[in-house]
Amino acid sequence: MPDFDLLVVGGGPGGYVAAIRAAQRGLRVGLVEKERPGGVCLNWGCIPTKAMLRSAEIFQTLATAADFGVYADNLRYDFAAVRQRKDGIVKQLTDGVASLLAANGVTVIEGHARFTGPTGVEVFEAGRSPIFPGGPRYAAAPTATATRTISAKDVIIATGSVPARLPIPGADLPGVITSDGAFGLTEVPARLVVIGGSAVGAEWASLFASFGSQVTIVEMQDTLVPLEDDDVGAALGRSFTKRGITVLTGSTVESIAQTDVLRVSVAGEHARELDADVVLVGVGRRPNTADLGLDIAGISTDARGFIPVDEQLRTGVQHVYAIGDVTGRALLAHVASHQGLTAADVIAGHPAHIDYTVIPAATFTHPEIAGVGFTEAKARAAGHDVVTVRFPFAALGRAQTFGDTEGFVKIVAGRRHREVLGVHIIGPSASDLITEGALAISLEATLDELADTIHAHPTLGEIGMEAALAGLGLPVHIAPRKR
Ligand SMILES: Cc1cc2nc3c(=O)[nH]c(=O)nc-3n(C[C@H](O)[C@H](O)[C@H](O)COP(=O)(O)OP(=O)(O)OC[C@H]3O[C@@H](n4cnc5c(N)ncnc54)[C@H](O)[C@@H]3O)c2cc1C
Repeated sequence: MPDFDLLVVGGGPGGYVAAIRAAQRGLRVGLVEKERPGGVCLNWGCIPTKAMLRSAEIFQTLATAADFGVYADNLRYDFAAVRQRKDGIVKQLTDGVASLLAANGVTVIEGHARFTGPTGVEVFEAGRSPIFPGGPRYAAAPTATATRTISAKDVIIATGSVPARLPIPGADLPGVITSDGAFGLTEVPARLVVIGGSAVGAEWASLFASFGSQVTIVEMQDTLVPLEDDDVGAALGRSFTKRGITVLTGSTVESIAQTDVLRVSVAGEHARELDADVVLVGVGRRPNTADLGLDIAGISTDARGFIPVDEQLRTGVQHVYAIGDVTGRALLAHVASHQGLTAADVIAGHPAHIDYTVIPAATFTHPEIAGVGFTEAKARAAGHDVVTVRFPFAALGRAQTFGDTEGFVKIVAGRRHREVLGVHIIGPSASDLITEGALAISLEATLDELADTIHAHPTLGEIGMEAALAGLGLPVHIAPRKR
């Protein structure tokens, strides 16, 4: 008899959620993890960045406290304390995941798993990190001798992703770091160049700018956060510029050289040389399949190394499933978790499949960004006949009381039936407000239905209703368009 009904390899938001669901469905579940439970999201991604961004936000708010009639003198921050707070939150949450796994009866096995065949792995003690002494991140190849072998009826691969390497001269110089390396910074860099203006790069740029770094962000596409609606990306670029961040869109970094500082050569629309103390590479992720033995299990990958799966998360090999970043579908924690729930249900014999139609995503810059559904450009490219409407936060009472009036919501809707196709927000609490947009698209709601839903006053949430009213040509709190 196999050791487990299900073995999950990797304990990130994909793997630990799958393990819990499978155990609740009555399976005997094992989970192998070479670092701490929680994966990138809890240890190196979603949570630690948001903890530090919150410190940055408080510092920035206090800097303008006088606008609220509140006086904060001698304002300063202690970056060590900022990091310590972040570490405390990470520990609390990762310990929480470990407790939940135990409470659900999941057997956690520490170490690096490598396939011995489709439904068997050997487990090695994971190597140690050259970057963070004592920490296992970027663990070298596992030690030579396996500590144990494990068999299971089914296996889920949930090994996630790691930062991509930038193939340019100077990318391996000291001072050139990835997002993971940024957590090792003990001081706020005086001059920071961020390569890549997607969510990860934009969040670090926003954070260090708040703490006083002189930040330049270089993005190849025409706008920052290029996966978002163009209007949102353009608005973020303007906002960053107003905050003193130098935004170089339509540009690429060609090389980095070590002089007395790091000399960064930028080509394209804003070609120039930049001096930096730290260069943060926030460009792309690659699947974390090193030393996993995919070939031994017969599992194939696409050209970029990600594992293709069907809508029930099956790989091409019977009894082997893959979920999360390693599938390359949408590199987001909540997508990994939903894939995990689906795979666990399928393995436990429940009819389930994953539907990717509605995936909200948020970027926790200042101002915050969130989007769901079609951008205007993608809706038009897909052949939809659309109307779009924008409503500014400045017209909301609640935003005025917050003292945070920057930004807008943009709704993309079908012209004929007024069904909501996309919602895009830049401004306060965008990441929380997007849920109404996700639900609207899920339920195929129309502008009329959004407008007819009574929203509490005064709230930031009123923005969806107000935008819908404007989209119907019946705006209440902004002037009507001239006919
Ligand atoms: C800076 C940053 C900020 C982010 N912010 C957000 C955000 O705000 N919202 C959001 O939705 N997403 C965010 N993400 C993305 C999110 O972190 C990932 O999408 C998510 O963690 C993927 O989950 P996963 O379970 O697929 O893999 P991971 O979280 O990568 O977990 C994989 C786990 O597998 C383990 N593992 C790998 N190989 C082996 C092996 N051979 N044996 C044993 N264990 C192994 C690893 O140690 C790791 O713990 C962010 C990412 C970064 C880098």
